[in-house]
Amino acid sequence: MKFYGDYHTHSRHSDGRQSVRDIAAAAQKKGVKEVAVTDHGPHVAVIGVKNEETYLKIKDEVRAINTDLDFDVTVFVGAEANIKGLQGELDVSGEIIAQLDLLIAGLHPYTKPSTVEDGWGIWVQNSLRHLGKGQQEKAKNNNTKATVEALYRHPEIDILSHPGLFFTVDMEETARACIKNEVLFEINCGHEHPHLSDIMIVNKLGADFIVNSDAHFPETVAQLTYGENIINRLGIEPDRVANYWDGGEDDDTIGQHRSTFAHHYRYVRRRQNTDYKLP
Ligand SMILES: [Zn+2]
Ligand SMILES: [Zn+2]
Repeated sequence: MKFYGDYHTHSRHSDGRQSVRDIAAAAQKKGVKEVAVTDHGPHVAVIGVKNEETYLKIKDEVRAINTDLDFDVTVFVGAEANIKGLQGELDVSGEIIAQLDLLIAGLHPYTKPSTVEDGWGIWVQNSLRHLGKGQQEKAKNNNTKATVEALYRHPEIDILSHPGLFFTVDMEETARACIKNEVLFEINCGHEHPHLSDIMIVNKLGADFIVNSDAHFPETVAQLTYGENIINRLGIEPDRVANYWDGGEDDDTIGQHRSTFAHHYRYVRRRQNTDYKLP
């Protein structure tokens, strides 16, 4: 396994078809050291968690797995928050975010917007794209604005999920906002997104990547081949892929090598940005 961990999966608490325990078992079988359960935020129709307290329940389940000696994989709890407005509002509160191990954010269809204007600006404009070029540009500008604002306003965000999927964004502007805010640009293997040509642009600008599965089933947990192929094709340096085994550094405190995400993002950066306490 080329990857240290998979940091984007969904359980039955949102729209996944697997328990938290299934995710841990599947990750261990694939040979990764770490896996994160990152269910969808609550303000989205059908696919979201019931309410944000669900994340605390998941934490309880994970605690039991992490102390179970049968498991040789460490499980983390995060959220894939929905960006729900043009000011970059998220549907998970700061109070809950501070108790999570990592935070992903992204744009999703059927999100309940923050305001009527946001509903019009993002979800209606995107549904009108077929009307013509002007409408398409408007939708793209609004999607980009909502995304970029989210990254600037929420320093807790570690990963931007599947940039440009469902909602077209300006890749360069999005990549620049990721770089400025130290947010990882996700290569999403479940959706095989973004395409190679877009990743090439983002790579040239110098953004750092993470390769995730976005698995909803045990079979696809830590299924990261799409990302591995792209890294090889574009010759992206291992140090720029936050969950690559070949990148990262030796951590003297535990006498082990850890990927950049395991070391820098989850521990160093997260503690700077929230009241997060180590699990
Ligand atoms: Zn998503
Ligand atoms: Zn997802």
